[in-house]
Amino acid sequence: MSVWQNGDAYPCCIYHWDMPVGNINDAGFKGVWNSEKMRELRMRMLANEPSEGCAKCINYDAQGIISYRHKFNTEYNHHHNLVETTSDDGSVEQMNLAYFDVRFSNLCNMKCRSCGPHFSSKWAEDISGKPEVVEINHPEMWTEIEEMLPTIEEVYFTGGESLFMEQHYRLLDMLIERGLKPRLTYNSNASRLSLKGKHATDKNGVLCLITCVGYETTSNTVMTKV
Ligand code: SF4
Repeated sequence: MSVWQNGDAYPCCIYHWDMPVGNINDAGFKGVWNSEKMRELRMRMLANEPSEGCAKCINYDAQGIISYRHKFNTEYNHHHNLVETTSDDGSVEQMNLAYFDVRFSNLCNMKCRSCGPHFSSKWAEDISGKPEVVEINHPEMWTEIEEMLPTIEEVYFTGGESLFMEQHYRLLDMLIERGLKPRLTYNSNASRLSLKGKHATDKNGVLCLITCVGYETTSNTVMTKV
């Protein structure tokens, strides 16, 4: 599942951005997991029928380019048996989320030229003239995340700038407290590795952060710090 800063949720990060399968702020994670659109998507997949939201993968596959569909089917091949847990209406009772791509908010300290207001509060501020932080917000959010944690194999943090977000460190603490060690992947500008005494590298082994947007003049032009 891929969740955007405004709560819009998708089965993956390259699903059509205009076609969320639900919104976390409205329905929570459980509500989205078995939303009407999510059930319909599962049924179409099982019937081997293409879905409009999957257009990028369909195009990549047609051109012989390795698609996310191919990547996920390869990396999560060990979950094929779970297909049988899908009910006739496309719902899956057990929320066995394996890949969690989460953008808790658009909070960021930069306004890179390659970015925009959805992903950077600094860009949003430029447009509205005042600080504009958008974040996921549902009363059951943390309870649901806690229930989801045991099956999660990878958390992909992006934002905004995850290393600036309290929610990011809260999730790390929850993993540490439970002795859970999913793969942690970041999309970060790597300008700061801690927040209020919490360090992204604490107890988590080696955290390797690579931001590659260019070299010298190019990176200074793209990454605009404010
Ligand atoms: S086919 Fe591609 S776009 Fe569709 S859900 Fe799978 S990975 Fe996402």
